[in-house]
Parts: sequence; C-alpha cells; structure tokens
Amino acid sequence: MQYVSTRQKSTIVTSSEAIVKGLSVDGGLFVPNDFPQITGQELSQMQDMEYSERVAFVLSKFLSDFTIDELKDYTAKAYSRFYGDDPCPLVAVADNTYILELWHGPTCAFKDMALTLLPHLMVASRKKVGETNKTLILVATSGDTGKAALEGFKDVDGCEIIVFYPSEGVSDMQKLQMQTQEGNNVYVCGIKGNFDDAQSAVKVIFNDDNIKAELEKNGYKLSSANSINWGRLVPQIAYYVSSYVDLLASDEIKMGDKINFCVPSGNFGNILAGYYAMRMGVPINKLICASNKNRVLTDFFSSGKYDINREFYKTMSPSMDILISSNLERLLFEISGRDDKYVASLMNDLKTKGFYEIDFAKLKENASNFEGGCSSEEMTMDTIENFYDEYDYLLDTHTAVAVNVYQKYNNYNTKTVIVSTASPYKFPQDVYNALTGEFVEDSIKATEMLEEYTGVEIPEPLQGLQSRVVRFKDVIEKDKIKDAVLNAIKNK
Ligand SMILES: *Cc1c(COP(=O)(O)O)cnc(C)c1O
Repeated sequence: MQYVSTRQKSTIVTSSEAIVKGLSVDGGLFVPNDFPQITGQELSQMQDMEYSERVAFVLSKFLSDFTIDELKDYTAKAYSRFYGDDPCPLVAVADNTYILELWHGPTCAFKDMALTLLPHLMVASRKKVGETNKTLILVATSGDTGKAALEGFKDVDGCEIIVFYPSEGVSDMQKLQMQTQEGNNVYVCGIKGNFDDAQSAVKVIFNDDNIKAELEKNGYKLSSANSINWGRLVPQIAYYVSSYVDLLASDEIKMGDKINFCVPSGNFGNILAGYYAMRMGVPINKLICASNKNRVLTDFFSSGKYDINREFYKTMSPSMDILISSNLERLLFEISGRDDKYVASLMNDLKTKGFYEIDFAKLKENASNFEGGCSSEEMTMDTIENFYDEYDYLLDTHTAVAVNVYQKYNNYNTKTVIVSTASPYKFPQDVYNALTGEFVEDSIKATEMLEEYTGVEIPEPLQGLQSRVVRFKDVIEKDKIKDAVLNAIKNK
C-alpha cells in the first residue's frame, strides 16, 4: 500500500515513511492510495478475535511494510495498558442506541486508542526507513492528545516529545495530567493563545527550513503525533470495524445491516476514521458529526462553506474547541475525486482568506453519509443531567454533545453507536455542575463529590493525581514556540 499527499499526488511514500514524516513537505496530509476492502467473511471471522488482534488485522491491510506478527506484537503491548477486560466496551444504553467507550486507556480519553500504539509504529518505522537522527515529536493539544502522546512516548528510545497546550484552554484535570508527566524525554509548555494558535505555530515549524536545519544540526528530525499523522488515524479505523463486529457477535445486527455512528468532533480525525471504515466496506448508514458551540463543521455540512472568520468560544468540551479541523482536508481529497490541485487551492484560500467554499450539491452527493449538528453549552448540560436520570449513564461533556446531536437527529430506526471520547472524571466540575447545579472550583474535590453523588468509580489512571509532582509550569507567548523548541533540545 502506498500513500500520497492530498496536495500533490505525485508525492508517493510507503506507510513507514508516512508515519515518520507525519506531514508531507508540500503541506498536504498522507492518505492511502486506495481503500483495502474488508469482506463479510472477514468481519465474521473477527468475532473470535480479541481487540488487539482485530486492530492488527485492520492495520495489516494498510501498513504493508509491516508483518502481521510485528503488528500483533505492537497491538498486544499497546492495549495491555488499558484497564478492565475490554479496551473499548460497547454498552447498550437504550433502544437501538449504544455507547462505545473509548476511554479505558492510560489517560482516560479516546486519544489513547491510537497513541498507545503510535510509538511502536514510530520506532519500527524509523528502523525501516533507516532513520538515524532522533525523532522529535511536536504536539499541539486541545487537552487530551498532549497527555496521551506524553504517556505513549515517554522514555521511548530515539524519540523526544514536546507538547504545547493553550494555558487557559484546557480543563484543570487535563492540565494537571500534563504538568505532572513523568519521563526523561518529555517537555510540556503552556501558550497564551488558543488551540488553533498552538496548532498553527507547530505547523509553521514543520514548514520552516531554517529551524529544520537547526534541528538536524543537533541530530533531530521532526515528526507529529497529532491526527495529521497517518499512524494516528489508522488505529482509529479499527474500533469502527470492531464495534460492528461486536454488534454481530451479540446478535444485535445481521451481517450487512447498516448502522450509524455519532461522533463528537473537533479536528475531524475520529469521524474520518469512521469514513475510512465505511470505504473499506463496513456497512455504515450515517456518520453524524457533532460539534459544540464552535460549529464550523456543522455549518460546512449544511452549506459547503468552511469559514473560520468567526468568534472562537471556550466551552466545557475543550477538546472540541477548534476552528481549523485539519483532517477535513483528507475528506475533501476523497469527495473531490482526489483532485490534489483543488485541495491545495482550498487550503490556500483557508490560509489567506480564512474560508473556502465548495459546491454544495457536490458535497451532498459525494459526502451523502455525513450529517452535521451542534449542541449549545446549555443543551450539553441538560443532556448530561437527563441522560443520567433516564438511563443511569454518566456522560462526559464531549460525549454529551454527541448524544444531544443524536437526539435531535432522531432517527431511532437505525442502530446507532455514539462514540464516547472521555471519562466524565476528566471534566468533573462541569459534569457535577450539570447534575447538581453546583460548581465546585477545585477539580480534585469535584472528582470526589461526583463519585459520591453517582457511585460511578473514578478510573484508575485519574486516582491520586493530586499527590504527583508538578514538573512543568512554563507558559509562553504564542510567537515564542520556535524558541521554546530550540531551547528544549539544547537543554538536553
Ligand atoms: C480529541 C477529542 C475529541 C475530538 O476528536 P477529533 O478527532 O479531533 O475530532 C472529542 N472528544 C475528546 C474527549 C477528545 O479528546
């Protein structure tokens, strides 16, 4: 399987090159040259596999320069770090409605599904392409990627990792998780700005020849653990396939029945993996893209215009507070019939004018499986409360956005999997507030009160956070990211 850049199809790389590079030199994202198919018979056979074997099987269709045994080794290691029996349980909550819990990993957010695995893929890919420089992983995070990447890459040979987060744009728990990160190859830094500022600054570094030369002098090559990296996306395809297999195994559906997925979205990476699963042949009816108050994706799916000239809101679902959804570029590539010049021109419009517009009729026709919807802060609060009252199920602030959008979409005839992206205990103040009307300032206190109120257990990885040592307190101006990167490696 070969990979091409969304902005220049003539740039062709292997899967290991795509993973090591992260981003194409033309600024485009790597995508598979075609979509491998998964047959009904294979889906059927997957019922007897453990989750880690299912992932290895799906990966083997995309990562042709890895053997199945290599992949099985990595997935076994990655998913053994999850707590509980099943890395991603599918919970039936109501008629035709299921919740796919993707937060049983070491940091309690869905990013763990990929970021426990990516370091294994990265180390192996470096060997395969003969890389001798150290790999410097640069991450911009809206809260969850940072911690999950730090956990994944800490003390991994040949890799160093630097994470930038918006200092006032993540939850207290997310901040505490990152500031207390252990490991000898990690650096964490807050910036005065929002996630888009952090992401843009990191992208500028990726395209800056001077800084890249400076890094190489010091023996470093850049790579990315953000969802622009193919190695982040491909493990995510697996849980869409696997939840279909779970529904088959429990006789909830028959082979070939189509199901919906409703996904809380920000950077569009999670739901895009669902689209790829569909293109592989998994029977999917609708992919419902749920946004918070930052509804740029909702507007795109209802008009064809992607416009970031708008106010940026800080919400209680910070991991979705994003205006520039990087992975949409990969969908644009597919729905434009893989027109690289066109994608490059749209991305240029976005950079220079802050918006692009595509033919709405064409969008409807070529992305007919997508629906978009959004949830206000108030609706999200109400949803957490009502869902708990009605189904005795505790939602986090991101999953609640998806549930709200799904309830408005209201087509209960088709079985729907709501993708749950974080433990409610990552956002204890807001969740507790939604249930009781009381806002508890201190996140640790709120955690305890939430546990007492609901009886839902605090996940293992979030227990005892308050007693860990804060190692990283730096906060810098957003135009100082470059200096911070150079300083961090020189201080090694
Ligand atoms: C990252 C994240 C999202 C958004 O996922 P994308 O792939 O960026 O669309 C949603 N919820 C949580 C909890 C997240 O951490």
